Amino acid sequence: MEEEVFQVHHRHVILTIDEGLRVVFLKHRELLKVFMDEGARLVKEYFEKKHKVTPGIIVGLHTFGSKMNFNPHLHMLVTMGGMKNNGEWKTYDFIPFEMLRKQWQTIVLKLIRRMLSEEEKKKIQPLLQKVLCQWRRLLCVCPKTKREHQGAIGVYWPFVTVKYL
Ligand SMILES: [Zn+2]
Repeated sequence: MEEEVFQVHHRHVILTIDEGLRVVFLKHRELLKVFMDEGARLVKEYFEKKHKVTPGIIVGLHTFGSKMNFNPHLHMLVTMGGMKNNGEWKTYDFIPFEMLRKQWQTIVLKLIRRMLSEEEKKKIQPLLQKVLCQWRRLLCVCPKTKREHQGAIGVYWPFVTVKYL
């Protein structure tokens, strides 16, 4: 088995939404699957465009925060490298968190606008405006130490075995 898998570095990326938008997702649970797909797409497309590789991504959707409040967010385990078209593995060591953060904000707002009816959009328009002005809580996290990383893996992906290099 060990010969068949790549031993690669990875990052733990967390994508959240503004607190004000939680109510929208609470009412429209059907958005959560698309929310998850869009998170994976964001990271995948970045690496496809920038590095011409397909990264490895495992996404976990959490709908509740640590205070047991409704707080949908994504935990993503992202390889620091990807597969080239010719099957070779290419390593990289940087994820542009700030850029992805801004793109994620746009994606979430577009997702809401796309999925809701005209009537509902009208109703929540003031909320969307407010959110745009205050959205600071969206987060990408890169645990700094091996210990932080291992802790995160145990909590969010208990079924994943990761070898540290
Ligand atoms: Zn979580």
